[in-house]
Amino acid sequence: MVMGLLVKGGRCTGVITGLGHHIEAKAVVLTNGTFLNGLIHIGEKQFGGGRMAEKAATGITEQLVELGFESDRLKTGTPPRIDGRSLDYSKMEEQKGDEEIVGFSYLDVPRIKPEEQRSCFITYTDKTVHEILKTGFSRSPMYAGRIDGVGPRYCPSIEDKINRFADRERHQLFVEPEGWNTVEIYVNGFSTSLPEEVQYDALRRVPGFENCRMFRPGYAIEYDYFPPTQLHYSLETKHLENLFFAGQINGTTGYEEAACQGLMAGINAHLKVKGQEPLILKRSEAYIGVLIDDLISKGTEEPYRMFTSRAEYRTLLRQDNADLRLTEKSFLLGLASRERLEAVVAKQEAVERIKKTLAELTIEPEDINGYLLQKDSTPISQKQKLGQLILRPNISLAEILTHSNTAQAALRAEKTDHLEQAEIQLKYDVYIHKEKELVARMSQMEELEIPGSFDYAKVQAISTEAREKLNRIKPRTLGQASRISGINPSDVQILMVYMGR
Ligand SMILES: Cc1cc2nc3c(=O)[nH]c(=O)nc-3n(C[C@H](O)[C@H](O)[C@H](O)COP(=O)(O)OP(=O)(O)OC[C@H]3O[C@@H](n4cnc5c(N)ncnc54)[C@H](O)[C@@H]3O)c2cc1C
Repeated sequence: MVMGLLVKGGRCTGVITGLGHHIEAKAVVLTNGTFLNGLIHIGEKQFGGGRMAEKAATGITEQLVELGFESDRLKTGTPPRIDGRSLDYSKMEEQKGDEEIVGFSYLDVPRIKPEEQRSCFITYTDKTVHEILKTGFSRSPMYAGRIDGVGPRYCPSIEDKINRFADRERHQLFVEPEGWNTVEIYVNGFSTSLPEEVQYDALRRVPGFENCRMFRPGYAIEYDYFPPTQLHYSLETKHLENLFFAGQINGTTGYEEAACQGLMAGINAHLKVKGQEPLILKRSEAYIGVLIDDLISKGTEEPYRMFTSRAEYRTLLRQDNADLRLTEKSFLLGLASRERLEAVVAKQEAVERIKKTLAELTIEPEDINGYLLQKDSTPISQKQKLGQLILRPNISLAEILTHSNTAQAALRAEKTDHLEQAEIQLKYDVYIHKEKELVARMSQMEELEIPGSFDYAKVQAISTEAREKLNRIKPRTLGQASRISGINPSDVQILMVYMGR
């Protein structure tokens, strides 16, 4: 257990463990999750812990606050864990896994076959369940005011749902197996910190759960986080050089949110040690860029989750092109192998080749009209370029390939994901082009750097709120300044004038 940091001359130089060992380091990345002064609540019971049955981490927050850091409290919760052998699945709706497994990786790694997947099941709470849960409200740590931290808006507890959506007669529960080698079940949608016996009584009224056995009750956990406006874009802290923060400690929640920050903090800690410039991804380059920019310019007062809707350039940030967007950067950092880079270059070449074929290849009416009619799409009276045909809204290249002999003959050798990429690029070309123009226009403002020493107090024309926030957050560029909540376009205009455009 790390209990403190080694600090010398405004720099973090390592960590101190619970056994008193000093571990020196050129850079330190803190990823404490929910462990900093973690406090678990179940009904009226409360006890220290980072997760159930794991000790909380103490000492680090206190030391950092003494060094000038600001910390605050957030909370999250988890549902009870149930013995899957005690459930009656015949009373629930089965939810099978995806037929076609799409991997996170672009590499040709073996995918799990659908028949090896375990199903989830759906069941519902009802009025009786809600009434039982309500009997515990007076002993609920949330309603009794024992919890100060703000919880995740998008994963409310069952008691929150009953309260906030009082008109709903039932709430959906996803009954999820925790893995292949366990009988443990995660009752998604039933996150709660009500007293244990209330949780148990209520659960046993849920269809399929009449005889359920509970391994562990649900609980809420409060923990310290550090408002992320205290970070540089590299995820290095502004107060203490060589100290980086990643994950839930920055006020986020979620696996991907934590993983991507860990990656970025790791990369940047390494670059810092090597004396190189940090890696900063733009909002138009990656969701990681959106997440870090949001955290640093706006901060967060509730657990932050990444949504596609948070990104303004969604036409560019697609899951199908992350490899095209980022592999070269990764290769230059020494992360992606040369083989991966070569695979991406080969993909780019294939996509261009396919796009050229689509632009040139003509299709005869008799080769395609059967398919077009089947799709309620106007048949063609004379031959047409294949590239034109796939612009039609409900027409897909994959389907054309199963119907048109000409198309099949020309594209037989191409890989499915390359065909799909070419089709996406052609079909949405106008939108992609427009968005790239928007990025270029915005980047003029985006890139305009504000000197770190800039004193906003001198700029009397901007609002007091703007002055206070700008001085606190010290945005790196005008683009970042424009996204701070409470900064108006007029404030940005004034700043631009002040900085002599
Ligand atoms: C029960 C539960 C279910 C969840 N389900 C989902 C989900 O379905 N989807 C989703 O996206 N997110 C989910 N989340 C949220 C997600 O797990 C977290 O947001 C994410 O794991 C945070 O990652 P992290 O690396 O910041 O911290 P953590 O994953 O909490 O890791 C922190 C680690 O640091 C260690 N540590 C802490 N302090 C010290 C110290 N002082 N010294 C040494 N080691 C220390 C801890 O032992 C721990 O291993 C869930 C969370 C919980 C609790």
